[in-house]
Amino acid sequence: MPDTCVHTDAASTAGTGRFGAVLDRIENETAALDERGSPAGYIPLLAGADPRRFGMAVAEPDGTVYGVGDWQQPFSTQSITKVFALALVLSLDGERIWQGVGREPSGNPFNSLVQLEYENGVPRNPFINAGALVVTDRLQTLTGDAAGRIRELLRTESGNPAIDFTPAIAASEAAHGDRNAALAHFMASYGNIANPVPDLLAAYFRQCSIEASCADLALAAGFLAQHGLQADGSALLTRSQAKQVNAIMLTCGTYDAAGDFAYRVGLPGKSGVGGGIIAVVPGMCTLCVWSPGLDRRGNSVAGVAALDRFTTLTGLSVF
Ligand code: GLU
Repeated sequence: MPDTCVHTDAASTAGTGRFGAVLDRIENETAALDERGSPAGYIPLLAGADPRRFGMAVAEPDGTVYGVGDWQQPFSTQSITKVFALALVLSLDGERIWQGVGREPSGNPFNSLVQLEYENGVPRNPFINAGALVVTDRLQTLTGDAAGRIRELLRTESGNPAIDFTPAIAASEAAHGDRNAALAHFMASYGNIANPVPDLLAAYFRQCSIEASCADLALAAGFLAQHGLQADGSALLTRSQAKQVNAIMLTCGTYDAAGDFAYRVGLPGKSGVGGGIIAVVPGMCTLCVWSPGLDRRGNSVAGVAALDRFTTLTGLSVF
């Protein structure tokens, strides 16, 4: 029996919530998937995750959240945090960030170095690693604690004060972080990084190490569906900025498979190598799926399949 639950009532209840029946069906279909991909191997502590784990949550504007499977299981958020970092920088600093990072899909792997050289140290977009390093660098300058501010935003919006860094994951990534170090040093050589590179990398690895569940992330991303409004009704972003972040998620949020994700799912989304994906139905709801097996581009195999089924079964997409 699938366990679909509402936030306000922790009891397992199949079919709960507006999309409860759809989620139950997706969970059953996903259980039958043979091909699951493989967990991220380049961060050793993520490599042991079980690709058959699966969770999915939907959060609605009134703060109701419900889900199926492992929807309350914390997992490593990794690049999903890049969305929250960008939102914070836009809210604090407006358009200035676009001096140091572009807004175009890269068509290259998330940790690629090649484009940076012939584009003079300015990364293509905020969701590849190089661009995310520029955003975290700016957030660090603006706040003195980039990772802490991202954690605070996630805690506040999800209502879960237990969301936290995972020092062992950050250390594991730092110990194998030569590629990110190369990206940061290379951009620093062009004057596109303000903080000392070791400090920036420490902030970035802490940010990526935050663990949160599908329920937490679906709630925390709610401002993207609510045109920039947070859970308490205050504005994190203007309506226009919320549109902009959603647009960049749609075009750049799922590595060099953003075109295929838009084709299959038709929603703004952001994936992470921990196997999570958040997706936004503007004005309606936010979704988060988690399953640690990744395809060769770095997106969760079961996660993309589940979101594909969600938009197909409900007819909800931005198109
Ligand atoms: N911490 C990971 C890295 O920098 C994040 C990658 C991802 O989730 O896309 O390699």
